[in-house]
Amino acid sequence: MSVDAIVQPSPNFGARPAGAEIDILLLHYTGMANTEDALARLCDRTAGVSAHYLVDEAGRVYSLVAEEARAWHAGAAAWAGVDNINDVSIGIELANPGHDLGYRDFPGAQIESLVTLAQGVLARHPIPAARVLGHSDVAPDRKLDPGERFPWDRLAAAGIGLCPPPDLSPQDPVPSMTAFAIELARFGYPMGDGADPARTFGPITAFRRHFRPDRLTGPLDGIDGARLGWLLGASGGG
Ligand SMILES: [Zn+2]
Repeated sequence: MSVDAIVQPSPNFGARPAGAEIDILLLHYTGMANTEDALARLCDRTAGVSAHYLVDEAGRVYSLVAEEARAWHAGAAAWAGVDNINDVSIGIELANPGHDLGYRDFPGAQIESLVTLAQGVLARHPIPAARVLGHSDVAPDRKLDPGERFPWDRLAAAGIGLCPPPDLSPQDPVPSMTAFAIELARFGYPMGDGADPARTFGPITAFRRHFRPDRLTGPLDGIDGARLGWLLGASGGG
């Protein structure tokens, strides 16, 4: 359950606060043209960003920051009312140009290596399935990664994270925006200023990017409701 990682130390890390328990696995894409550029940035002291690991498109795993240390990957982010995401998470970057530079499918070799790496992380830390998340989940108004092409279903099949079954019966009646926003918050999404309905679009799109990637736009429907309901049940949320 371990991978042969290429150790490429980044100077961009700090100590985790005393008592911090690692309970989030956060996945990203690099959003850069190639792996070399991404590695250079993640190891550049002036850039001030890092992650614990990077997996390139050939499936090579780079270890940048020790799991015990606090890497700098989440930025302004929150989940389930907690905003110190870097304190409590392991961050894994996946090489992919991202939405701005030619977003493309994640190759099988990359996902296979990620699965092995993530299984090891989950074996070493008490991370619940519902807290295997994408950057867009914890920063929905700011981030798109790892994005709708990321195969969350393949990870779930390997015991990593949650993926609602594709054949759930649609919820009837369709939830209102307000009701859905409340349920998203129960699951963990940061809803921002809940008094402003426009602020719920970011989290709804982030929810779909992760849990309903074939329908990023359009009105809420019964499938959205059914999938979120299933997730709440599976996570023991609420
Ligand atoms: Zn990210």
